[in-house]
Amino acid sequence: MFRKHDPAVLVTGAGPVGLFTALQLARRSVDLRIVERERSPTSHSYALALHPASLALLEDAGVDLPRLRDALRVESIVFSDGPHVRAHAKFTDLPVRHPYLLVLRQSLLERILVEELRSYGVSVDWSHRLHSFQPLGDTVKADVEKLDRIATGYPIATSEEEVVREYHWHPRFLVGTDGHRSVVRRRLGIGFPAVGAAQLFGVFEFESTHPVPPEVRVVLHNGTTNVLWPLPDGRVRWSFELTDEPEIFGEDLRHKSRLAVQVGPDAFPHLTVDLLNLLLEERAPWFGVCEGDITWSVLARFERRLAESFGRGRIWLAGDSGHLTGPAGIHSMNVGLREGAELANRIADVEAGACGLDTFANYSNERRDEWRHLLGLEPDLLPAPTADEWIRENAAGIVSCLPGTGDELRYLAGQLGLALSEATAA
Ligand SMILES: Cc1cc2nc3c(=O)[nH]c(=O)nc-3n(C[C@H](O)[C@H](O)[C@H](O)COP(=O)(O)OP(=O)(O)OC[C@H]3O[C@@H](n4cnc5c(N)ncnc54)[C@H](O)[C@@H]3O)c2cc1C
Repeated sequence: MFRKHDPAVLVTGAGPVGLFTALQLARRSVDLRIVERERSPTSHSYALALHPASLALLEDAGVDLPRLRDALRVESIVFSDGPHVRAHAKFTDLPVRHPYLLVLRQSLLERILVEELRSYGVSVDWSHRLHSFQPLGDTVKADVEKLDRIATGYPIATSEEEVVREYHWHPRFLVGTDGHRSVVRRRLGIGFPAVGAAQLFGVFEFESTHPVPPEVRVVLHNGTTNVLWPLPDGRVRWSFELTDEPEIFGEDLRHKSRLAVQVGPDAFPHLTVDLLNLLLEERAPWFGVCEGDITWSVLARFERRLAESFGRGRIWLAGDSGHLTGPAGIHSMNVGLREGAELANRIADVEAGACGLDTFANYSNERRDEWRHLLGLEPDLLPAPTADEWIRENAAGIVSCLPGTGDELRYLAGQLGLALSEATAA
């Protein structure tokens, strides 16, 4: 048994939310460790854009945004029903510091956050897995395992994970930013019920044959949601909601994990250029077809889940450990970053002696209230009397596609003729 020094806070999971939470804690001079069971930062690029509010958050956290000047800025969102444009909203009209979305791959964001953390003398403990924990007086007893890969298998080389060390730490706070299968949430016995139907998306990235304007295109077509994102270097990402999964895929994906994603040309033999072009012709005939190769594709099942609570006592959740939703509004990661910042500030206040644990009293309810609106469980998008007929009919689906929260969401919705209640926009 080993015992490195006990940190004040143990952050579990170095995804974007864990890294940002750790950065906020480090900036407030809170002593922390951040453990990640993987061996290095992700190379996947699932979430691809930052909301205006996230840009302000990152800037306030000292992240050098001008360094990202080459990243692509998206200035508007356009809704269509397939062939026809029905509505649009401009980010450039938002009264905020950064009135645009920044297309920044999740993998790059994570690398930047790792570097920022290092500048505060904090390194991620890669290959360290939180195994179990239990509250113990004014601390949390946390059992962490250091993992290594050992070569197994002959003549075909394979490897297995092996526990090479165990640590028992006693942090004063445990933060669960450990994603949708969160061990922190599960060990706290917090339910994570489905609160809506899951959606299956085929995601394709490829080079466009024509210039694509700096806008997000949402196509609401026959009950499906489909989204086009411009990417750097003339590439695009199309995400198509797939409804007839058994016919297309020949297997039942309903019971697979949301992250039933694999990357690489062999991973999804079903996601062919032919299928892509079929979907484009059917749902976005104005776009044309893909004439080259697909550079990246993924089949992802997005569930809608909301944790029954975001923690208690000295153990709290942020990010995908507390919520899952579809990809269209890029809410998961962006709202997660804000949750991490909230949590870090409250923990730092307690550590500084500025307040007691009662500062967490409303953390859980605030998170759940916000997500109940974002997930459409308490729809309060109200089409104004002057709202276009199409907007009225599609109001329910539109909010989940609007890439913003709080005031940003209200302004964007307002441009489309929808009014959000104060509760949602707050
Ligand atoms: C195809 C696809 C497209 C997506 N597109 C978007 C998008 O456009 N916009 C958007 O906002 N979101 C999108 N998402 C979702 C987005 O990727 C997640 O919301 C985001 O990664 C959540 O960040 P997180 O830090 O909360 O969790 P994660 O990124 O899941 O990180 C959790 C980390 O915890 C680690 N971990 C787990 N258990 C332990 C343990 N016991 N000990 C130590 N470490 C542990 C995991 O290895 C992982 O690295 C997409 C997802 C997919 C699959």
